[in-house]
Amino acid sequence: MLVILSNFLYNGVMEKFCIVTYGCQMNVHESEKLSGILLKMGLTETLKPTEADVIVFNTCCIRESAENKAKGNIGALKGYKKKNPNVIIAVGGCMPQQKGEAEKLIAKFPFIDIIFGTQNLFLFEKFLEERIKGKKHIIELEYNSPLPPENIEFNRDGKDNNAYVNITYGCNNFCTYCIVPYVRGRERSRKESDIINECKQILKEGRFKSITLLGQNVNSYGNDLNDGSNFSKLLKNVASLDGDFVVKFMTSHPKDLSDELIETIATTPKISHDIHLPCQSGSTKILEAMNRRYTREHYLEIVKKIRAKIKDANISTDLIVGFPGETEEDFNQTISLIKEVKFSQIFAFMYSKRKGTIAEKMDNQVPLLVKRKRVNEVLNLQKQILKEYKGD
Ligand code: SF4
Repeated sequence: MLVILSNFLYNGVMEKFCIVTYGCQMNVHESEKLSGILLKMGLTETLKPTEADVIVFNTCCIRESAENKAKGNIGALKGYKKKNPNVIIAVGGCMPQQKGEAEKLIAKFPFIDIIFGTQNLFLFEKFLEERIKGKKHIIELEYNSPLPPENIEFNRDGKDNNAYVNITYGCNNFCTYCIVPYVRGRERSRKESDIINECKQILKEGRFKSITLLGQNVNSYGNDLNDGSNFSKLLKNVASLDGDFVVKFMTSHPKDLSDELIETIATTPKISHDIHLPCQSGSTKILEAMNRRYTREHYLEIVKKIRAKIKDANISTDLIVGFPGETEEDFNQTISLIKEVKFSQIFAFMYSKRKGTIAEKMDNQVPLLVKRKRVNEVLNLQKQILKEYKGD
């Protein structure tokens, strides 16, 4: 199958591919997989969609703005596709995984050739071949797939000399504002031996100075394996590999951050002291409505423990302002938490309704103007705190 397709490609019909990526590190890493698949098929990469024969949009749907951006860029290719009908346009990632979204995309952009999801991107070569053979409007989505195969070749971007390694896929947490468990499925952990082998391969290449272990919630790694694996042990074992490198990780969920893990980070050389610990809100009432399963007090307690054990810890966070029902008092709790913790970095977002989530249907949605005012207040406060840090 590969030979026939390669001949087709080498006959000059298809030479270049372009992948346009939106969203988080998980998506960036998945684009590295897609790129590896396409390179193996004999295509070369270009950064310009209008130079490519295969254009892949690897999309995000965590916020409406991310979806709108991707849709705008897909729509902008209408003329290019009209002039070059053999060009193949594919849309993958989180956006089409939302129920009914793939059909809507095809209706709005009938020139899309292939739609695939987060859980079957490793089959992209097969989808491409089906399209080349004449199948139209391919929609292939998986919702409960097991782990992807281990033998995928990555074309690692290597930005900042860093290599990403997935340790889990999916999420079990169902925060009420979040679409991820619906589009990426339940949490599945890779076997520790597979992760270690991948890390060894990365280190053998010699060009990476850091390895970032990726999961929606790295702290619950291993819960589904029932073999005694946990994130603290995994981190220690990756850090014990030979080589001059740093182990990073993201993202940590406060409810699962254990004392054992803090101890491991504090006492194991090579583990980064940058801890991204999304707080989301400083109000216990809002945290409960978000189904975060920790309180403001618990979060502050964890920060205290981290700072007691890891003197140079850089704690960064994500915050959502304007979650349904967030009053001025709740928001002030967030402001006071920021002042208390003094984060090294804050990623602050206005709450954005996501179809199919519980929060979408909640009463007391906060008006846009209020959300804007609050997000600006958070960002200005953070600027002030950073100035004080630097002693400006
Ligand atoms: S932990 Fe919550 S916010 Fe993070 S991916 Fe899972 S459901 Fe979404």
